[in-house]
Amino acid sequence: MPMISKILIANRGEIALRVLRACKELGIASVAVHSTADADAMHVRLADESVCIGPPPSRESYLNIHQIVAACEITGADAVHPGYGFLSENAKFADILEAHGITFIGPTADHIRIMGDKITAKTTAQQLGIPVVPGSDGEVKTEADALRTAREIGYPVLIKATAGGGGRGMKVARTEADVIEAWSTARTEAAAAFGNESVYMEKYLGKPRHIEIQVFGDGEGNAVHLGERDCSLQRRHQKVWEEANSPALNVEQRMKIGQICADAMKKLKYRGAGTIEFLYENGEFYFIEMNTRLQVEHPVTEAITGIDLVHEQIRVASGGGLSVTQDDVHFHGHAIECRINAEDARTFVPSPGTITHFHAPGGLGVRIDSGAYQGYRIPPYYDSLIGKLIVHGRTRVECMMRLRRALDEFVVDGIKTTLPLFQELVSNQDIANGDYDIHWLENYLAKGSA
Ligand code: ADP
Repeated sequence: MPMISKILIANRGEIALRVLRACKELGIASVAVHSTADADAMHVRLADESVCIGPPPSRESYLNIHQIVAACEITGADAVHPGYGFLSENAKFADILEAHGITFIGPTADHIRIMGDKITAKTTAQQLGIPVVPGSDGEVKTEADALRTAREIGYPVLIKATAGGGGRGMKVARTEADVIEAWSTARTEAAAAFGNESVYMEKYLGKPRHIEIQVFGDGEGNAVHLGERDCSLQRRHQKVWEEANSPALNVEQRMKIGQICADAMKKLKYRGAGTIEFLYENGEFYFIEMNTRLQVEHPVTEAITGIDLVHEQIRVASGGGLSVTQDDVHFHGHAIECRINAEDARTFVPSPGTITHFHAPGGLGVRIDSGAYQGYRIPPYYDSLIGKLIVHGRTRVECMMRLRRALDEFVVDGIKTTLPLFQELVSNQDIANGDYDIHWLENYLAKGSA
């Protein structure tokens, strides 16, 4: 693979800025792309060059493959970093770039495809030695199949769409009558939502945590793990607060599951950054999916390992291999990330508009990744994430103290944000104890307050 001299960043918002910062550090020229709604965005202002790729709707701009390839050709960009979301897990995009001689900073199109189909992903994970949730052997094609599988794995069960995503297309069934009903409605809904009626079945776990392992491969059979992130605090399957290390794991558990994942990536000859997501209950890990890209919450891993994941992605894509072996990876202290969304902190209704006053906290152990600034107008067309607050401390207690102080300093006026929710969480006893599962936040919100 050739050396990379100019990277086009096929994304917007805080992640475009994050990638841009890595390019600057590495002395690589950067190209920002933007829709007409983002002409005055921070990533556009700071990039070496920028190209407008279309009108506000994503499908006509940030998802428009032809416009992005054309922008590469106009600017002479020899690589594309897709960020997360948008085209980051689009195998066709990776193929088209390759056909144009442009490096896709990510895994091979084949690996994206394997992990993009839930049944194939699960079968592959199992073959690679990764523990999976007990469930159907592939697709559940008939009602009789559904009933037999549910009896085998035991109630309650979960019916999931093969092509599902974003937490959509899942139904819990607790009885035989439920299974009959859920199997047929799930198929109808999956056909309507994803254009694919195929569904499969898993044992439903009652009170799991969401724990994911960060992996990195060089595409040649070398791979490492960078520990876990605990992302159990979620609302409607959207992560809200992420931390590393997980309050639920000890060193032995971390290194054991980490090694299983790294070994799997070696066998797969995986290239670049990946995240293997698990549900964790009663000391057992159950694979749910693998994301073949950089994740929103990658900074907590950077904080505790000191490894710049975007540098590493670019290095691997340039053919330079991994900068570390497993023995070089050490975990220091504790990190927490809060996702600051332009949303009402209770109802989560989006709150686009102009930021009239913006003051970000600083100080030891505090990192802000955000494209927001005073006077910035948040367009209504995209994800409501406007920034991330990442705090690091030597211990979880020190991290929480810093987080409380940083939240107190943070000012975002003119729009509603999720900051008030984090002020509550940082003072909550269950959170202080690390005692929460994937349902904790929704239960907390349903109660109205602490
Ligand atoms: P998606 O691709 O739609 O995000 P996932 O398979 O990653 O689908 O599952 C999303 C979420 O659904 C998980 O984070 C978890 O909260 C819940 N979930 C998935 N599988 C199970 C299961 N077997 N038991 C309980 N909850 C589950």
